[in-house]
Amino acid sequence: MHKKILVLPGDGIGPEVVREGVKVLKRIADKFKHEFIFDEGLIGHAAIEATGNPLPDETLEKAEKSNAILFGAVGHPKYDNDPTTKVRPEQGLLKIRKELELFANIRPIKLFDALLDASTIKRDVIKGTDIIFFRELTGGIYFGQPRERRENGNVAVDTMIYSKDEVRRISKMAFETAKKRKKKVTSVDKSNVLECSRLWKEVVNEVAMDYPDVEVEHMFVDAMSMKLIQCPNNYDVILTENMFGDILTDEASQIAGSMGMLASASLGTKYALYEPIHGSAPKLTGLNKANPLATILSVQMMLDITFDMKEEAKAIENSINKVLEEGYRTYDIKDEKTEEAKVIGTKEMGELVARIV
Ligand code: NAD
Repeated sequence: MHKKILVLPGDGIGPEVVREGVKVLKRIADKFKHEFIFDEGLIGHAAIEATGNPLPDETLEKAEKSNAILFGAVGHPKYDNDPTTKVRPEQGLLKIRKELELFANIRPIKLFDALLDASTIKRDVIKGTDIIFFRELTGGIYFGQPRERRENGNVAVDTMIYSKDEVRRISKMAFETAKKRKKKVTSVDKSNVLECSRLWKEVVNEVAMDYPDVEVEHMFVDAMSMKLIQCPNNYDVILTENMFGDILTDEASQIAGSMGMLASASLGTKYALYEPIHGSAPKLTGLNKANPLATILSVQMMLDITFDMKEEAKAIENSINKVLEEGYRTYDIKDEKTEEAKVIGTKEMGELVARIV
């Protein structure tokens, strides 16, 4: 098969982890006789430095011509330490999500058995966890207008806004997936306080009527954050709005052992972008310490979902499993039983996974 993949390394550890994802893709192309044509684009701080714009038009044009996009991370301490900066790396990511209408962010919480002791949560609690988050990605408080400072900068305003259509399309996706899994959707809201959440709940209930064999459960986001780590096995498909999903999936990463283990797919009706859930991790940048598995698992999702290459996707999963079973760990997922000689860097982890694919 012949596919065009746009690579957007971004900032911090983004280029380091994406390099390993590309390594695995090249190995897959070799082994399964596919042709992947790679192009690269600027986004985030790297794009601001080069062009003044966190998402140059050229990057967007390349994205529109690709079959799939592999994204690393954006963000730089320069902006995090100066809240007055008007042009920020994250604007590049928000804009590409909006422009390509990538409204569904799918985040599997997949727990590799070999990593049961990498989590700070008891193994009996997390064993068997298999959750898929459906996070709405182009609405809510991250995009609502107005968003501004008022009264000489003394008051700040953000706006949470959702339309029924926005809630409906992500809900349908979640129910479709639930139908093929354990037939249960847990929808997260704060409907005891927020009007947006009351609309959310109303639409989820409407959509649920078309899926009579799927059980729907509603949870307040505060209770969900507690239950998620108390009894993760009670959940299968979790459906959330943008910000709640952002926060809950960082929490859920601790079930899988590390932020460096969680992959995601950002999908619309026309385009698809694959990205690890983590950020640019400035403290790890350039040290060959970042875990590339979240990116490699994002590549696996790309093959599975967008390219429908099931065997190839399975080969990546098996390879990661094998490497972990053999005891190899990046520093973020090691535990007291890990042999020192098997604590490896970003590049070495990418090479091991690619070699045995
Ligand atoms: P972060 O995800 O970069 O890091 C959070 C913690 O997880 C840190 O301790 C980090 O060292 C660790 N971590 C993250 N990825 C890892 C990996 N692959 N391997 C091992 N450990 C890993 O979040 P942050 O520190 O809150 O933010 C840093 C920057 O990233 C900020 O500028 C923020 O705006 C940006 N950010 C970007 C995205 C994105 O591009 N999608 C997401 C979140 C944060």
